Amino acid sequence: MSKFRIGFGTDIHRLAAGRPLIIGGVEIESDLGADGHSDADVLLHAITDALLGSVAMGDIGSHFPNSDPRWSGADSMVFLRHASALLTERGYAVVNVDAVVDLELPKLKPKISEIRNSIASALGIEPDMVSVKAKTGESVGSVGNREALTAQAVVLVEKFQ
Ligand code: MG
Repeated sequence: MSKFRIGFGTDIHRLAAGRPLIIGGVEIESDLGADGHSDADVLLHAITDALLGSVAMGDIGSHFPNSDPRWSGADSMVFLRHASALLTERGYAVVNVDAVVDLELPKLKPKISEIRNSIASALGIEPDMVSVKAKTGESVGSVGNREALTAQAVVLVEKFQ
């Protein structure tokens, strides 16, 4: 395998009342939360898929099927750390992560640095190696109408051994 590889991941979750909104391991105050089998952390799911994709190790669903009761309400940090450990086992380290979260409300800007720190800490890298951008849905489509939130992520990994 080459010294550098890239990975890409996306995710979507429905927004629903009575659910927490957890993004990048950080709980966000909101009237609507993310629905799903686990804690429904859309950003960690996209990054986990990007990490798995970088070393062609399948996807989050193949490692953590949502039919498995073990992952009901699971902390998605478990998924991220598992993917990170698989990379390390294969001799790869994360160079950087770049991600986008699409969410109409609330504005994520005040939480971005906390989210970056949370992801960097889970991956054992510096916060300046993790970029998270927030966009809205401009009041149209599933994001704009507050039916869902989505995330996309790319990662670059480098062989260290
Ligand atoms: Mg998901």
